[in-house]
Amino acid sequence: MAACAIGDSDALIVVDVQNDFCPDGALAVPHGDEVVPIVNRLGTKFRNVVLTQDWHPAGHLSFASAHLGRAPYDTIAMPYGSQVLWPDHCVQGTSGAAFHSGLQIPHAGLIVRKGLDPAIDSYSALYENDRTTPTGLTGYLRERGIQRLFLAGLALDFCVRYSAEDAVREGFAVVVIVDACRGIDLQGSVATTRSSLGARGVACITAEGLSGGTS
Ligand SMILES: [Zn+2]
Repeated sequence: MAACAIGDSDALIVVDVQNDFCPDGALAVPHGDEVVPIVNRLGTKFRNVVLTQDWHPAGHLSFASAHLGRAPYDTIAMPYGSQVLWPDHCVQGTSGAAFHSGLQIPHAGLIVRKGLDPAIDSYSALYENDRTTPTGLTGYLRERGIQRLFLAGLALDFCVRYSAEDAVREGFAVVVIVDACRGIDLQGSVATTRSSLGARGVACITAEGLSGGTS
């Protein structure tokens, strides 16, 4: 596709580039750390950058350890729908929940923390997994006149996917920068994500497809 020019009504959303989602982390996304230099370069092209941070209380109900007899990556029914159970990860204030030390986007204007409710997971940067409880990010973006979101980060098939789909639902134009994401790929979830994003009109581009910049 033609190079995509970035302006003041665009925002880069950097999803969950945290130690626990990188190699040696509690919920490592394969090659997750490879996105760090790509995301840093992307950050220089955007005046508006938001970072998200998975940020759970200990004993969060998305953790397999909170359910007797369950193992990580089992799926269970929660009151709000189906939920994959994860290893304990991104517990508030731990080093695993910290951003990767190589992440360098000092001009990011907002950090959105999500997954704080002990009983509801939050893949999306906009809504918790009940799809109705907002994080507040939509309001922030609207008040700042943002119309188009570019998503990058971890993991493509969970938090990036859900963020993209909720953003479409909220009326934003949405672009996923696929080479700035890595996936977990549970039971074909990366392929499912790519087809789901396409069906919703989300553009999938590479970082090379961006031009311009404000810095
Ligand atoms: Zn989480």
